[in-house]
Amino acid sequence: MSHCQPDSIHAVFTKGGILKLEVIHFPHPTLRHVSKPLKRVDVELREMIAQMFELMYRHEGVGLAANQVDLPYRLFVANPTGDPDNKEAEQAFINPVIRSGKGQVEGEEGCLSIPGVLGPVVRKERISVEAYGLTGESFVGELDGLFARIVQHEVDHLDGALFIDRLSPTQYAEVKDQLEEFEIDFQSKRDCGEMPTDEQIAARIAELEKLRT
Ligand code: ZN
Repeated sequence: MSHCQPDSIHAVFTKGGILKLEVIHFPHPTLRHVSKPLKRVDVELREMIAQMFELMYRHEGVGLAANQVDLPYRLFVANPTGDPDNKEAEQAFINPVIRSGKGQVEGEEGCLSIPGVLGPVVRKERISVEAYGLTGESFVGELDGLFARIVQHEVDHLDGALFIDRLSPTQYAEVKDQLEEFEIDFQSKRDCGEMPTDEQIAARIAELEKLRT
């Protein structure tokens, strides 16, 4: 029985030589990669960020980290409204650092890299985050509510962590079967040759890091 779909290979390039980005799914190893800070903001990086916003909206998300599109960079995009027409609410966070956090609050989270899986996660209620924006200027955000949750979820991604790592054993048991489905799907892509090997993925990440970190 064959489930192979040769047209679903990712990491293709556009005519201009810019990476055409796609959202990768659990358990892709890049999701466990600890991202390194970027050295500069330039036209090419802004093009990647534009593609990330596009993908985030297409998949109806409110945040998307670079390693979710198979890039080893310390960068994520967010729009807590999820509304592509609300450009005011868009923010790119380059080399984000969470400086401080206060309080604790539980809320339900999902992830574009584990679509359909949801679970309650305890996060800091308020945070202070420092990052660089699209033009390379630094800014500090004092955030609470959904925006604070998004930033903590995305910074976790950049550290190679997923929200499922933060579930209690009972809550994890509830999504275990769903996660196994993702693992089976990933393995069948590997078996079909649609998914690069761990060595190929690591080599590509090292190449991309050399260019920008
Ligand atoms: Zn996520």
